[in-house]
Amino acid sequence: MNVRSILALGALLFSVSCGSSSESPQGDATTPTLPFTEVASPISLTSSPLADFLIYSNDVPASQVAILKQDLAVIDTWDGLMTATESQSLKGLLKLSAVTPNNLSLWFKERIKYILQADLSKYQLGLVFASENEVGLQELGSTDTQDEANTGGGNIGTAIYLTTLEEQRSRSNLSYLIIRINDKWVPVLSPRVGLMRIGPALFDPDYQVNHTNIHALSNSLQRLEVLFHEARHSDGNQKTSSVGFPHVICPSDGTIPDNLVGIPACDDSSNGAYSVGAAILKSLLHICERRCSITEQEVLKSIYLDRISRVTTGSATNPLKLLDPAPETGFNAVNIGDFQAFNLR
Ligand SMILES: [Zn+2]
Repeated sequence: MNVRSILALGALLFSVSCGSSSESPQGDATTPTLPFTEVASPISLTSSPLADFLIYSNDVPASQVAILKQDLAVIDTWDGLMTATESQSLKGLLKLSAVTPNNLSLWFKERIKYILQADLSKYQLGLVFASENEVGLQELGSTDTQDEANTGGGNIGTAIYLTTLEEQRSRSNLSYLIIRINDKWVPVLSPRVGLMRIGPALFDPDYQVNHTNIHALSNSLQRLEVLFHEARHSDGNQKTSSVGFPHVICPSDGTIPDNLVGIPACDDSSNGAYSVGAAILKSLLHICERRCSITEQEVLKSIYLDRISRVTTGSATNPLKLLDPAPETGFNAVNIGDFQAFNLR
C-alpha cells in the first residue's frame, strides 16, 4: 500500500460527505442489502493452520484462494531452519520471544484476517453515525489500477481507518465505517481489522518469479513477502505517529535506486513493512535452496535486495526511525441493529 492509495480512498469518502460537522448524511432512506444485526464479531485467534484461517471475499477467484492457501501452508509446514542472524532479525522486528513457524503464524493472524479482490468498486461501505442512529451506505467506488500494475497488495483496513480519522476532523459525529464482506458487516474499528486487498501484480504471470508455474514455491515465497509486508501496515498508533507504518517518498540521497526517487515506496524506519517483508523472505529462502532453480533463487535474492534498498539510511539530522508497533485502541463498536440506513449516492 502506498500513500496514493490512502489519499484516493480519502478523496472518495470526502466526495460524499462534504458539509459541516454534526450533520446527518444526505440521502434517501433505504434497506441495507444485509441486516445490520449481522455485524461480524472479531475473529478469534486459534492454533488452526494459517492456510485455513483467512476469510476470502466471495469475489476472489477460487483459483487465487487455492494459491494463497498453498502459500500460507508454507508457513504451516516450515521447519523454521534459519541462521542465528536471521532469527535475531525477525525476533527484533516482530517482537517475538522466539521465531517459530507457530509464532510467525500467530503474528500474521493478528494482522491479516480478510482477503479482498483487487477491484474494490463493488464493496459496500457504511458510515456509522451512532448519535443519529444512522448508517450512510455507499459502494467503495472504482479503483484505478492503471498506475499500480506492479502492486502486490494493499492494506485496505488501514486505509479505511486512516480515512475515518481524517473524516472525523470535519464530521465529528462519524463513529466508524463498516464494510460488507460476504454475509457479514465488518466494523473497521482499527487497522487490526486486517483487510488486505490483492494487488494486480500478485497473480500476474509477468510479475511471478517462475512465469510458467504459478504454483512454484518461488512464487509462494514472493507472495509471502507481500503478505507479511501488508501485515506490518496493521501496526502502529496515533500516539507515536506510527499508525499503519506508512511509506515515505524515496529521497534523492544517492542511496536509493534512481527509479524509486520521488515515489512513496520507501521506509525511513528500520522496522517498517519493507524490512519485515525482506526479513521473512531471507529466512524462507532456505526452503528454496533445496526446491527452487538457481535462477529462481537469484530472482528472490534480488527481490530481497530491492526491499532492503528501500529503507533509507538516515542522516545525522534525520536518523533512521524505529517505529512503535503497539496497535491502536481503535473505536468502540456500537449496536447498529436498529439503525436507519441511507444511500449516500
Ligand atoms: Zn507497503
